[in-house]
Amino acid sequence: MHKRIVIKLGTSVLTGGTQHLDRAHMVELVRQCAGLHRRGCDVIVVTSGAIAAGRERLGHPELSATVTGKQVLAAVGQSRLMLVWENLFEIYDILVGQMLLTRADVKNRQRFLNARDMLHALLEYRIVPIINENDAVATAEIKVGDNDNLSALAVLLAEADLLLLLTDQPGLFTADPRTDPDAQLIPEVRTIDETLRRLAGGSGSGLGVGGMSTKLQAADVARRAGADVVIAAGRAADVITRIVNGETVGTRFPALETPLESRKRWIFGGTTTDGRLVVDAGAARALIRNGKSLLPVGIRGVEGDFERGDTVLIVGVKGDQLARGIARYSSQELAQIMGCHSDQIAERLGYVYGPVAVHRNDMILL
Ligand code: GLU
Repeated sequence: MHKRIVIKLGTSVLTGGTQHLDRAHMVELVRQCAGLHRRGCDVIVVTSGAIAAGRERLGHPELSATVTGKQVLAAVGQSRLMLVWENLFEIYDILVGQMLLTRADVKNRQRFLNARDMLHALLEYRIVPIINENDAVATAEIKVGDNDNLSALAVLLAEADLLLLLTDQPGLFTADPRTDPDAQLIPEVRTIDETLRRLAGGSGSGLGVGGMSTKLQAADVARRAGADVVIAAGRAADVITRIVNGETVGTRFPALETPLESRKRWIFGGTTTDGRLVVDAGAARALIRNGKSLLPVGIRGVEGDFERGDTVLIVGVKGDQLARGIARYSSQELAQIMGCHSDQIAERLGYVYGPVAVHRNDMILL
């Protein structure tokens, strides 16, 4: 069964094509999310609808026409949208946390790591992250632009194993179902090729109107990151529960690799430095036998220059290679905190990025 699920809800799913948020349907979606949460799944919601919620409250149709106008709508709408989610999840005693992102927040490895740490922290506390683009401040140059691609980013950040792209269409078709009576639903996609891309359009003919082209982009990123992806109709009864239970619904894109392989790629894909952390025998045992994270207390030496987010080699006192992993602190910082207990980090540095030097999840044993 899938363990960590990103659910992307498009504006059309939340409004049902009207000018208002359809709260009755939102309750339905939350009920299904709560069911997954109760089973122990981590649920991450990527919500659209901020601009729609702003329009619902403000009216002023002229605002939709300009960038600043849309930002005004988003600023008013986002908090209203969030209030609705918060109240609905509250029915099931589930807390939610808001995460507003732009491309700028993830563009380099350090900022990506910060966002990732924050998302993982929410999940650790069993809080449901509700993610949207920070439309009120995101101008073209830092925008992700659409919530399909934003949800693929959420998959990368969360290391999710399932992405549901819920929309107003039942999935991807062989032709435009609105104009072609012979159009067939494609149940599974293994290769995203030119024919499929053309089918998804972007042209206004094809299925581009339904935003299938950005869905295809998002599906491609997510399946490469180790997540199965399903495009399905967000207003179909019990759609979330049925997909997670393994029913064939919509169009499925099987993952191309496991989340573990993807994580390895991310660990090895970092800036290669000649940074090395020399650790004592106790720490070496904790890493290798007990599968623990590396704490500053176990570090005996810091070699080379590296930044937080860089990949470093972890070696024993005799120089034996133990693991590779992503450093949570720079070489300068580690030099100041090595050998000390994690609760002394704040005292020594004046800030903390957490108790570990290299997190277990960011480490590959050699
Ligand atoms: N972030 C936009 C909103 O909340 C939606 C963008 C999209 O649906 O792709 O209104």
